[in-house]
Amino acid sequence: MAELKDVRGVGPKSLSLLNKIGIYTIDDLVTHYPFRYDVLERCDLAKANDGDKITIDGKIESIPILMRFKAGLNKMNFRLVTQSGVVGVSIFNRAFLKSQLSVGTGITVIGKIDKTKNVITASDIKMDVLTNKVKIVPVYHCTSGLTNKNMSTYINMALLEFGKDVIDYIPEEYINKYNFLNKKTSLNIIHNPSTSEKLKEVTIRLKYEELFQFMFKINYLKQQNKKKNTGLIRTIDKDKLNKFIEKIPFKLTGDQEKAIDEIINDLEGTGRMNRLLQGDVGSGKTVVAFIGMVANHLSGYQSALMAPTEILATQHYNNLKEFLKGTKINIALLTGSTLKKDKVEIYKGLKDGSISMVVGTHALIQDEVEYNNLGLVITDEQHRFGVHQRANLQNKGVKPDVLYMSATPIPRTYALTIFGDMDVSNIKERPKGRQKIDTYLKKNSEIKDVLEMMYSDLKKGHQIYVIAPLIEESENSDLTTVNELKEQMKLAFKDLYKIDIVHGKMASGAKDLIMEQFKNNEVQILISTTVVEVGVDVPNATTMVIFDADRFGLSTLHQLRGRVGRGTSKSQCILISDSDAERLNIMVKEDDGFIISEEDFKLRGHGDLFGTKQSGDMSFKIANIKNDYKILLQARKDSKEYLLNKDTNGDKIKEMLINSIETQES
Ligand code: ADP
Ligand code: MG
Repeated sequence: MAELKDVRGVGPKSLSLLNKIGIYTIDDLVTHYPFRYDVLERCDLAKANDGDKITIDGKIESIPILMRFKAGLNKMNFRLVTQSGVVGVSIFNRAFLKSQLSVGTGITVIGKIDKTKNVITASDIKMDVLTNKVKIVPVYHCTSGLTNKNMSTYINMALLEFGKDVIDYIPEEYINKYNFLNKKTSLNIIHNPSTSEKLKEVTIRLKYEELFQFMFKINYLKQQNKKKNTGLIRTIDKDKLNKFIEKIPFKLTGDQEKAIDEIINDLEGTGRMNRLLQGDVGSGKTVVAFIGMVANHLSGYQSALMAPTEILATQHYNNLKEFLKGTKINIALLTGSTLKKDKVEIYKGLKDGSISMVVGTHALIQDEVEYNNLGLVITDEQHRFGVHQRANLQNKGVKPDVLYMSATPIPRTYALTIFGDMDVSNIKERPKGRQKIDTYLKKNSEIKDVLEMMYSDLKKGHQIYVIAPLIEESENSDLTTVNELKEQMKLAFKDLYKIDIVHGKMASGAKDLIMEQFKNNEVQILISTTVVEVGVDVPNATTMVIFDADRFGLSTLHQLRGRVGRGTSKSQCILISDSDAERLNIMVKEDDGFIISEEDFKLRGHGDLFGTKQSGDMSFKIANIKNDYKILLQARKDSKEYLLNKDTNGDKIKEMLINSIETQES
């Protein structure tokens, strides 16, 4: 197999530069697609307007005159004969081109035209003449020392010498079905398009290939997972479980019951559970998870529940303790700030099995933690954990069942791709008695109204969250900070109400103390950065005020809004912003997290939904699942059909597809 260094022109220096931008193989190189194309269109001088940026080709008519200025600046002037007349050209700081710009040479000039002086001030000169009416020039991500031209040369050299060896992952039947060009031709075109029609045609083909490969992988892994049948063998004492469920002080919703059934089925089934529990904030996922943990316990295994923050882990732990009151089930809380001597005890209990359930942050997956017989792993708000961390926790048990909980509903496209290998339980129905949260959009100039709305809610004995994007003043930003809000609120409410702050940079002990005080209504106004975004449950808090709301994605705003409306009283959410009204009005109108996440996704892409780690997992070279949804659906259908089709067993492409998965996964 030829290597990158075998490509003509690629020496040790360029090799290391290519490596620097993630290109290690010939395949990486030829699929280093342009991130955009510059379209150079031949221009008619007569039609250009004063000040237009134009691209024009012609022959040099006069010897360029070079002028040098102070500070190393220089300028060249010459005349250019074009099809539509002669024009003057000046260009700055290209003295090094002078020797190439001899009279009679054909060049292309890109620049701004001054009609009165009949001069183009050029931003660039290309040393070849457009042969067609338009020229489409690929533009690549490069790095210092590696120019666009180098990149183009290496890619074309590689295609010329090794293009026929590049693997085409689309099986022949689909190539025929869609009349696709072959891989080598497609790559040639994408790197050297002659027309935009051709470019479009091969772009679709290459996107399809990438998505076909991706969906094949997901379907294959799902199939392998099912085949391996590696689930734990267990029986759950249903009578005991039902007795337990009967003691819950509220009636479970239909969706909760359905999710519980699905989880119990998975736990008892021969395969391993790999399930996502999706539901809007406040929809009651936690109790479903707890019941799953009890079921797991009743079949003799340990459970671990992992949360993304200490506040949330502590809250889960306290709720779990309450939930298990009257039982003898031994539980523990393990976070980064657990005292060393307590940690040692907990490690011991987890190892010898005397602790049945442990709740914590990613302290649960540190190397020193060993479990006796971990049977169920639940991660809450899973999108905040990187995939690597998730995998790590799974490895702790022999083959524990896995449940992920997420309050950020995933738009369908993403659900298909990220969670394509998972089963999904949805909780859409809300617990009875919940009222819609009224949402208002206010300008900064209307702050007086906002304070009045806050005051009238405080007078009813309710509590308030106030959110700001920043903690401290920063020189290059005039965003609202929690510190300045505290001053402002103090001024407005005097000593009538206790006001305090929590933010991500505080020591966790201090944070917990204030959260505790807020829970106990010893603090009435809690000013915070988005640390309260996930999970925190204080039913007496009924107003949420968010400053600089335009700084947040809709999904984040929806999560924040979900902090109120947890009790039976009417709740409200006030968004303050002077801009972005159209987007923020979606919040005013919509309260369905699924719809909001779709809208957010349409407007912002997936940036707000997942941490960078996860968006990295999903990075495609050419496809974009936001725009290429139709191709994705087709590729999904085809790849599944292809995987399951017995006639394709032993097929070379199938083997290569599987091979590429196995090398990636190991
Ligand atoms: P989330 O889905 O955001 O994790 P929680 O599980 O924290 O939601 O539930 C929010 C609140 O609703 C909790 O106080 C919980 O006890 C309560 N709750 C959950 N299910 C029901 C139900 N079926 N009826 C009434 N209250 C419920
Ligand atoms: Mg929750």
